[in-house]
Parts: sequence; C-alpha cells; structure tokens
Amino acid sequence: TVRTRFAPSPTGYLHVGGARTALFNYLYARKHGGRFVLRVEDTDLERSTAESVNAILEGMTWLGLDYDEGPLFQTERFERYNAVIDELLAKGLAYRCDCPKERLEDLRERQMAQRLKPRYDGHCRPKEVGPDQPHVVRFRNPTDGVVVVNDLIRGRIAFSNAELDDLIIRRSDGAPTYNLSVVVDDLDMGITHVIRGDDHLNNTPRQINILRALGHEPPSYAHVPMILGDDGARLSKRHGAVSVIAFREAGFLPEALLNYLVRLGWSHGDQEIFSIQEMIELFDIGEVNKAASSFNTEKLAWLNQHYIQHGDPKRIAQLLSPQIGRLGIDPSTGPDLATVVEAQAARAKTLVELAEISTFFYRDFDVYDEGAAKKHLRPVAREGLARLRTAFELMAYEDWTPEALGRVCEGVASELGVNLGKVAQPLRVAVVGRAASPGIDITLHLVGKDATLRRIDKALD
Ligand code: GLU
Repeated sequence: TVRTRFAPSPTGYLHVGGARTALFNYLYARKHGGRFVLRVEDTDLERSTAESVNAILEGMTWLGLDYDEGPLFQTERFERYNAVIDELLAKGLAYRCDCPKERLEDLRERQMAQRLKPRYDGHCRPKEVGPDQPHVVRFRNPTDGVVVVNDLIRGRIAFSNAELDDLIIRRSDGAPTYNLSVVVDDLDMGITHVIRGDDHLNNTPRQINILRALGHEPPSYAHVPMILGDDGARLSKRHGAVSVIAFREAGFLPEALLNYLVRLGWSHGDQEIFSIQEMIELFDIGEVNKAASSFNTEKLAWLNQHYIQHGDPKRIAQLLSPQIGRLGIDPSTGPDLATVVEAQAARAKTLVELAEISTFFYRDFDVYDEGAAKKHLRPVAREGLARLRTAFELMAYEDWTPEALGRVCEGVASELGVNLGKVAQPLRVAVVGRAASPGIDITLHLVGKDATLRRIDKALD
C-alpha cells in the first residue's frame, strides 16, 4: 500500500511551500487508499524548537491535513540510526575518518583554486581509524556508475557517482546526519513515495546509494518545484505572509489556501474551484509543472472571496468570531454572526475585511466616511430622515422585520415623491457610517431599533 510522509524540520513556522508539499503527500495517500505519516526532523538540536513543532502541528490542523501516523520525532530514534551506521561500518560500507579540520579546509581551498567542486578525496578510505580516536563516519559511496532517479514530476535524472563524495553519516559528536536518518526512516516507515521540495533533489542520489547499501530498492520520488515571490526570488518573509498561520491571521480560509496551493503549478481543464474531495480524485502528482510557480496573492484573495461567499455561513461565522473579537467586539452582544455573514459575504475578500465592515452591527461608530457623509448627509436629506425616524419609532420591537422596514422606507419615499435611493442612502450613511452595506431593510433589521433611532438622532443633530 501507498505510504507517504511529510517531514518538516522544526526550525520555523509552517511555510506555504511546506504546506503545499504536505498537501500533495496527503492527496496522494488519500487517492490511493494509503497512509500519510508526519515525521518531525528535529535532529538539528540547535535550530529545532518546541514552538516550531507546535506551529507546524497547528498549521496542519488548521488546514485539515490530518495524518494517519505520527508525529514521529527523529531525536527519539538515534539508537536506531547508530545501529544502522554500525552495521554499515561492520560491512565495510562505511569507514571512520579522522582527517583534521585543517586538512579538509586546505583540500577545499586547493580544489576551489582549481575550479573543482569541493569534495572529500577519500583520504581515509584505506586507513584503519580506531573507534576510540576522534572521528566522523563516512559512507563509502560507489565511485563509478550512475544513479538514476525517475522522478514523477521531473522525469529521468541521472547523477554520476563520480560527482558524489563520501558523505559524513555520523558527526564527531556521535550524531547521525540528515541523509542517513532520512534513509533509515523512509525504510523503517515503509515509505513508498517521497514527495518533497526540489531543494532536496541533490540529496536523492546519496540517499539512494545508502539505501542500496542497506539492501533495498528506492521508493518513488516526486520533487516539487519551489514557490517564487512576484519578483522571481524564492518566496520568503520579505514578500509578505508566508507562514500558514500568518494567512489565517490575515483572514484567509483553510479551504481557500488549499485550493490555491493545489492549483499552483497544476491544473485540471479550466476548473478553479476544488473541494478537498475533488482534489483527492483529480489531482495527479505527475501533472505538476516542472517549473517553479509564482505566488499570486490576488488569485488567493479571489478564491478566498469565493469560499467566504459560498461557504456555510455558520462555519464562516465560527472562523470570523475571533477576528471580530480582535476588534473588541463580543458577537454575542448583537445580531447572530452567521446572519451577518450571509448579509455581508459578497463584500469581503478576507475575514479581516469582513470583520471590519461589520462592526456597525455591534457598536456605534465615531466617524462617518467623509465622502459618503458629504454626498448623502446634506440638509436636503433631513426631512426624509426625520420622517423615517418618526415612523420607525412607532414600530413595535417584534415588528422590526426586513419586510416592515422596507415598507416604511418605500412609504416615506413616495410621501416625498422621490425614489427609494433618495431616502435609503442618507439613512444608510446615518446608520452604517458609509455608503455601502447590505440592503437597507436587512441592515436596519440587524442593527436593531434602538441603535437605528440613536444613530438617526446623531445624524440629525
Ligand atoms: N526535513 C526536510 C525539510 O524540511 C525534508 C526532508 C525530506 O522530505 O526528505 O526540508
């Protein structure tokens, strides 16, 4: 059965590029009835932090990328890695190297001066370095032949062994290195498909050689191209939000981000909107573009708008609630948030915007939008506002319905012999503070009678 894994190093937040890799692994496993494993590659003790582990788990949970196994931590498996290294040593497939730092530096400098690629020269291959003297352990890489990777995205890539050197697999402090632990883990976890960022492509032939030395054939590989910023450089913090959690804070919905990420470098006809179920059915890792793709925030915002407008208002309200809370509003003190979402959803690209344009349902505002006030709160509007106020005041609280409110507005407009807009716009600016809001009937209904009268009074003041 298919087994995929997402293997982040916990040295920062969950980057959108990482999220895309995780998504592809998730989709591949789900599509093929396989298992998706989360493995935390925390062997770099200096750079790995518990906060980062939490940030990654939080990002995965928020995106809904649930894993079937894990998280497994590499730091818990040092014994196993060391046992494998000892096995390689015993079989002569690895050797101890005691080359002093100075020798390696000197070698490197001389190679660079000759315009050669710096690589270890195999000095200790024939030597017998004892286990008790300071040393590193190196993998005895084959010296000839090629390693062929049949990458699901990039096709056939051949690496010549002569280009690879004898990789350190255990450092002098006894810690196994990245390439060794990845190989052992992928093997022990029965990983059938390694889907990862193409920054790891150069590690792949090394990992395949170690795997073969251990008597196994490599899994399938898919190296996912990186994501670029709008300037063509690798997407990073200086392009704006890059962490999954930063997108959440900026008011994006997880389904919009997933939909955006699946479409980045992949398409299915001209379909833009994909539910998770459709992604599982339709996404094919082999169809992903070889070239890097650029992150397009406007496209993401467009998708986000779609999901805000077409999602279940109750669910959107749940996600909106903390954003409203951040503006100092307790949504339980006003109209039902899901109803507000229904009324406002067409007007916001993000939950942050949705929250900002919805505060007037919950509290009075201090200032009018300048242009709107200038245009609509002119002396000629006073008569209409005053008549509306009189009519509204007479309404019973239980009759404060969109239908009744609509009738009152129309009644006042026809009394004055003007069209509805002539009375509705000043009323809207008076009650909402600006010229745009949902229909005046539903707006007044949600704002409530007391606040409506209070705000009309203020406008007439
Ligand atoms: N830990 C590596 C990273 O975060 C991924 C290694 C892999 O997927 O093989 O870049």
